[in-house]
Amino acid sequence: MHIITTLDDNWMGQGRSIATALVESDGHRAIVDPGPGSTLATLRKELHARGVSFNELDAILLNHIHLDHAGATGALVRENPRLAVYVHRRGAPHLIDPTKLLASAARLWPNDLQQLFGEALPVPEGNLRILDGGETITLGSRKIEVAYTPGHASHHVSYFENLEGVAFVGDTAGIRIEGHSYVMPATPPPDIDLEIWDSSLDAILGCKPKRLFLTHFGFSENPAEHIAQFRQRLHRWMDTTENILQTAKSDAEAMESFITTMRREIREHLGADEGEHYALTAGLNLSFLGLARHARKRAAAP
Ligand SMILES: [Zn+2]
Repeated sequence: MHIITTLDDNWMGQGRSIATALVESDGHRAIVDPGPGSTLATLRKELHARGVSFNELDAILLNHIHLDHAGATGALVRENPRLAVYVHRRGAPHLIDPTKLLASAARLWPNDLQQLFGEALPVPEGNLRILDGGETITLGSRKIEVAYTPGHASHHVSYFENLEGVAFVGDTAGIRIEGHSYVMPATPPPDIDLEIWDSSLDAILGCKPKRLFLTHFGFSENPAEHIAQFRQRLHRWMDTTENILQTAKSDAEAMESFITTMRREIREHLGADEGEHYALTAGLNLSFLGLARHARKRAAAP
């Protein structure tokens, strides 16, 4: 039996915000991005509804270690010490000791970190399977190839499975909530780099996936069109950020101007309700901070 199922982590009580993929093959089971600690109970319920318990999982495949994707990993390993956790080399130290990761998250979400993401327990080093990109993971009769796809995060990887041609791309191909065509960048600090990101998009296209699977949220059926739209929008958001930074009188004014501009764009495409849903899923304030940081680095480069 070979199935890929979308599990809705129902983050902050909002459906279609954070997805976990359940990948099954011949009695072997992996999940891609278990989600944050705050939605662990929902994940358990969603798996249970498909007749799967935490103890029956063989592996967790992490796209990257941001809390909305990977926060629940330590809790899952505590319940099922047999779990293999696949993660890029540069993300691994922050799973073993999440202190720094939590400190930087606390700077971005000073008031509601616990409510948003819950607990992030450390992951024992022995459970980690360190990736650089280029590996092949076997799951039952599926082969899953790993590609290093930085840009959103310096330790981001994508996974390509061979039987159905699905590419699990995490946040490398932006946010597109299933059922909509609008693709939105998520560009939080500190790693945003558009030149590197462009190569990662080329790498994804080079694997010729039939479908993409996005953590936010679900399947996208036309990878070439999706990535073309995303690439163009990402660069346009960057240009807008650079223009705003040149004219704004302060950082606060620049951020406000960015948020107003982008919120208007999103609402034009999606209407007010879905627009707010997108904006909540990837905070526009964080996207501004990430793009502004990259703009300043670019400007300072010789
Ligand atoms: Zn994310």
